Amino acid sequence: MYSKMEVIVIKQLEERIQSEGRVLGEDILKVDGFLNHQVDPHLMRDMGQAFAERFATSGITKVLTVESSGIAPALMASLALGVPMVFARKHKSLTLTDDLYTAKVYSFTKQVENQISISKHFLDKNDRVLIIDDFLANGQAVTGLLEICQRAGASVGGVGVVIEKRFQRGHELIVDQGIPLLALASIAGFEDGHVVFSHEGE
Ligand code: 5GP
Repeated sequence: MYSKMEVIVIKQLEERIQSEGRVLGEDILKVDGFLNHQVDPHLMRDMGQAFAERFATSGITKVLTVESSGIAPALMASLALGVPMVFARKHKSLTLTDDLYTAKVYSFTKQVENQISISKHFLDKNDRVLIIDDFLANGQAVTGLLEICQRAGASVGGVGVVIEKRFQRGHELIVDQGIPLLALASIAGFEDGHVVFSHEGE
């Protein structure tokens, strides 16, 4: 069941996907106009609010994501929840000198394996985490973040994604572990280059 607020945000997001999204090949959606390149701050704010309301009573102390496209929705959710946001880094940096939690993540869109890292300073056993990402496909990015939480001894209160592709494995992978999942737009499939939404969560 979606709340009234979620229904409004979902409608807004679906309209943007329908009007601006481009289907690439069999299973990729390009939404560079508001999420993956240019960012719409009003839509991000509303989506952050929706994530925050859904997980308001989950005891969240930190929002976790992976750079770079997860940062905008994660930041808005963290602002609405009043907790910090931490993004896992994909690239080694001269400034990343702390002790790190790491996990390997196979990138669905880039088809390469990345090592993602989070400093041990910013996650520990007292944390309860909300994981946020832009897309949920096969669940590799979320799985990498779950592994890092496990290594840190942090608990996970939920996962929020802007867009899930319901026909890929990620959704089951998360809910089968008993982790609450909120996907704002749920795509059942692509037909002739058009997006077909799934409304099974209503
Ligand atoms: P997963 O790890 O769940 O297999 O894939 C999720 C990650 O791959 C997301 O962080 C996102 O960056 C990227 N991704 C997966 N599918 C899509 C897609 O259809 N469009 C875009 N723009 N990114 C995607």
